[in-house]
Amino acid sequence: MSDRTELQRKPARAVMDRDAIHAVLDEGLVAHVGLIAGDDDTPHPVVIPMLYARDGNVMYLHGAPASRLLRMAKKGAEVCVTVTLLDALVLARSGLNHSMNYRSVVAMGTATEVSEHDEKVAALNRLVDHTIPGRSAQIRAAHDVEVKGTTVLVLPLDECSMKARTVGVLDDPDDLDDPAWAGLIPLGVAVGEPLPDDGSTGATVPGHVAFWSRGPGQLNGRPAEPEGTT
Ligand SMILES: Cc1cc2nc3c(=O)[nH]c(=O)nc-3n(C[C@H](O)[C@H](O)[C@H](O)COP(=O)(O)OP(=O)(O)OC[C@H]3O[C@@H](n4cnc5c(N)ncnc54)[C@H](O)[C@@H]3O)c2cc1C
Repeated sequence: MSDRTELQRKPARAVMDRDAIHAVLDEGLVAHVGLIAGDDDTPHPVVIPMLYARDGNVMYLHGAPASRLLRMAKKGAEVCVTVTLLDALVLARSGLNHSMNYRSVVAMGTATEVSEHDEKVAALNRLVDHTIPGRSAQIRAAHDVEVKGTTVLVLPLDECSMKARTVGVLDDPDDLDDPAWAGLIPLGVAVGEPLPDDGSTGATVPGHVAFWSRGPGQLNGRPAEPEGTT
């Protein structure tokens, strides 16, 4: 934590527990990574969506060596990374009191390049497994040329904050007799049936595919034990 990551607005919604921060990062799929781009004469902010992975108290980012964002970040440009989970729409009896339930994390700092081969391979596997848990063990190892041709950055999670809204409708007392429907519309990641490519058509769908989910216990409306998908 730091002055820069101390919540000023609604500080009661701050979550200081590191495990809770890690849980949000582990559940999220996309990070929005911001930095100041451009040259000295024409600096401008840019925010780019990226995949990421957490390992302990660090976050990994990766991409093509040509990526402007990765090139600037590895040269020392500070980054600000945001991950947001939307949990519900909050419908109140006035427009002003409509809201969203969410958990979000903002992390700031300077990323450095991961150059050591084994560490880089581990980080790349972590990136695969973040998105599809258990996947890296089911696919071939990365070729050296693939590892060399990918930039991996590591960002310490030393300076980060979490904010969460988890309560129900907060209506003005005068509005409570209003007939408008009020309550929550819960939101989650919707998961469809896996669609095999031509080479996998007819093959048994492995568990890490059939039971892919995001969030604790979420099967996103699918039956808990789909038939024939063990
Ligand atoms: C869900 C998701 C996950 C992604 N994961 C990764 C990842 O892990 N690693 C990775 O390298 N890239 C990832 N990308 C692509 C990434 O968003 C960038 O397009 C890419 O990294 C190139 O970045 P750059 O800074 O070199 O972009 P540049 O091409 O240099 O950006 C120039 C301009 O192009 C526009 N632009 C760039 N990217 C986007 C975009 N995604 N959407 C709209 N406009 C854009 C912006 O206006 C930007 O200022 C992901 C994209 C999405 C949507």
